[in-house]
Amino acid sequence: MTQQPRLIFDIHLDLSFNAVDFNRDLRWTQERIRRRELGMTDHVFRTRNTVCFPEMRRGRIGLCVATQLARTVDYFARMPGWASPPQAWAHTQAQLAWYREMEDCGELLQIRDRAGLDRHLTAWLEAPIEATPPRLPIGYILSLEGADSLVTLGHLERSYAEGLRAVGPVHYGPGVHGMGTDAEGPLTPRGRELLREMERLGIILDATHLCDESFRDALDHFSGPVWASHSNCRALANWNRQFNDDQIRELIGRGAVIGMAFDAIMMVHGWTHNRSKPQDFQLRIEKICEHIDHVCQLAGNARHVCIGSDLDGGFGTEQGPLDLDSIADLGKLGPLLAGRGYSQADIDGFFYGNVVGFLRRALPA
Ligand SMILES: [Zn+2]
Repeated sequence: MTQQPRLIFDIHLDLSFNAVDFNRDLRWTQERIRRRELGMTDHVFRTRNTVCFPEMRRGRIGLCVATQLARTVDYFARMPGWASPPQAWAHTQAQLAWYREMEDCGELLQIRDRAGLDRHLTAWLEAPIEATPPRLPIGYILSLEGADSLVTLGHLERSYAEGLRAVGPVHYGPGVHGMGTDAEGPLTPRGRELLREMERLGIILDATHLCDESFRDALDHFSGPVWASHSNCRALANWNRQFNDDQIRELIGRGAVIGMAFDAIMMVHGWTHNRSKPQDFQLRIEKICEHIDHVCQLAGNARHVCIGSDLDGGFGTEQGPLDLDSIADLGKLGPLLAGRGYSQADIDGFFYGNVVGFLRRALPA
């Protein structure tokens, strides 16, 4: 078995989306979840999940950023989505209720501030590596992927009180606050208001999913902390879901960390959704090292990369690297990066240190 790193901080998981939308009990083993889905035909990713709490502990993913996720869509849109912001808000509150249940049974621990982050970090770093998997709760920071569900700006303040610390204003297509992946156009006036309110509250802007024009607009109208929770390089996977070099340079200039994602469609050129297979590309985990190298070359250092795996973002092993069957396989990146000349300090930074440094600046005391 691969030597696991001491700790991995994954800054993009859609845990509650899996629990609430797909009825997966993440306390179960991966095999138990898969077996329950045998014969289910509602989604191609059934029986192919890679994320659950036992696998996170086995891979020492002791910290993550976990989303609430519910977008709205226009009346005639073909994409799935909620009919209106109140509908979407109610759904995000069901997702929040699930996080609270998981806290009550000791699976998760919500991180809201610097002190909480440091306490949790120490607990995981001191948990003996031989005792893997450690019986510690998994720390999570609450984030909102796509902000359509915020019926009013008052809803953002309510969410902040519940621990929300990062917001991505848009998701796929046109949104209430701006234009997301595969759409075009600037932020809406409401989107600019949202950014002002995020700035006032001290909420991190997640630049992931902003289309190019909305990205430009958002960075021009926001002076708080920015990260990209799950975004790869357009130079290596040509689609506006990924960032071009100028955008990556700009994020680096703003002190961002960029979470590398393991969705095949974001890793290679030419993936066709619902048609391509990982075998067609001989896609392996190592491919992500090219994205990591690319960001590090643009930065001139290794301090702006981290993991934002997205491994439970509506796909499974059918759309991921061939040598990744579980989120615990992320640990294989340690030897891969060492083989490419990254120092142990760089690798620790990539696995958790870069994000921790960012959050020590971005979270309230
Ligand atoms: Zn996403």
